[in-house]
Amino acid sequence: MKAVTILGATGSIGTSALDVIARHPERYRVHALTAQSNVDGLADLALRFGPEVVVIGDASLEGRLREALRERGATARVAGGRDALVDVARAPEVDAVLAAIVGAAGLVPTLAAAEAGKRLMLANKEAIVSAGALLMDAVRRGGAELLPVDSEHNAIHQCLAGVRAAERDGARLVLTASGGPFRDRLDLDDVTPDEACAHPNWVMGRKISVDSATLMNKGLEVIEASWLFDVPVERIDVVIHPQSVIHSMVEFPDGSVLAQMGTPDMRAPLAYALAWPERVTSGAQRLDFARLGELTFEAPDLRRFPCLGFAYEALRHGRAASAVLNAANEVAVQAFLEGRLRFTGIAATIERVLEAFDPAQPSGIDEVLEIDRRAREVATGMLPN
Ligand code: NAD
Ligand code: MG
Repeated sequence: MKAVTILGATGSIGTSALDVIARHPERYRVHALTAQSNVDGLADLALRFGPEVVVIGDASLEGRLREALRERGATARVAGGRDALVDVARAPEVDAVLAAIVGAAGLVPTLAAAEAGKRLMLANKEAIVSAGALLMDAVRRGGAELLPVDSEHNAIHQCLAGVRAAERDGARLVLTASGGPFRDRLDLDDVTPDEACAHPNWVMGRKISVDSATLMNKGLEVIEASWLFDVPVERIDVVIHPQSVIHSMVEFPDGSVLAQMGTPDMRAPLAYALAWPERVTSGAQRLDFARLGELTFEAPDLRRFPCLGFAYEALRHGRAASAVLNAANEVAVQAFLEGRLRFTGIAATIERVLEAFDPAQPSGIDEVLEIDRRAREVATGMLPN
């Protein structure tokens, strides 16, 4: 029986993971569930899954969470604030931690799970984009098992599972991208938040939905892939594949390509990350090839979607550019979702922040957090009034 902590339990990834866990009560029990501010959602999950601890990120809501548990007759211990997130990520009784907080806000507890040697099921891509070197180092030092949840990286993990180390030399990674809701839309100036969040193939949180619409999501994933698989930027490609059936591929020097396929359902990579090296059912529909008909591919349009290019540049540039890119993107996306910035203003803001702020390579978590804070300040200063 594996004890699991879910950071970001009320989100799209968190609830999908709980759906998988509920299918296998003999294998997994929930140790802790966390949320930032969704008191009722967290209390409902506590009643259903019976965790020992529930953590609310916004500590001022602890009292309301206690009340919500009492109303439902749920008995979990209640904690609040950032230190409590770290505590449940590294608690000795925990075997596996799902990092499913959105944004760099998830970095510190994700790092704590790595340092504590847990199975780290990583969905929180912003954490590895902001602090890739630190996180990978923490995984090694802590002896953690890092299992990618992001469907592309999970696919590559699956493609590489049976591949010998000697075969990996010179391999290329091919990340697939759906292209988002605006693949065929020429004028992106008047895009509304609801249009940007209406993804054709996946139902996700609003931040990653906007990232998918700008292709920044794929940019963050290029950086994520480079760290996870230790592959240089020159050997990571992106191809648009609107059906989201091939989740990513690995190409070897002899021209052979391995691909991983499935219906677009995050429960599949979550089940893989939970059960690895075994396999369990996930609830995902089987692929029906006859109904699918065709799989198509095209090159990404970097002119309409410059964010993907910015991410490649940041990865090439090194230093702290990826952390700056991520922070600027978080600020710009939030402003767009609040109606304070045009869709095309997201890329423009990020470009200006990257030009204005180029800090040196951070040497520890405090420096990363300081760079993240400064980059947010610079980005906020560039938003329209
Ligand atoms: P979401 O917005 O649906 O959920 C986010 C969760 O994090 C919620 O539980 C929320 O309470 C919590 N949270 C938000 N801000 C927080 C903060 N400051 N401190 C602590 N907790 C906080 O997001 P999501 O779509 O589930 O995405 C979560 C992560 O997984 C993101 O990094 C995203 O890029 C990644 N991801 C998501 C998908 C997907 O299909 N949704 C796919 C691949 C990767
Ligand atoms: Mg992805």
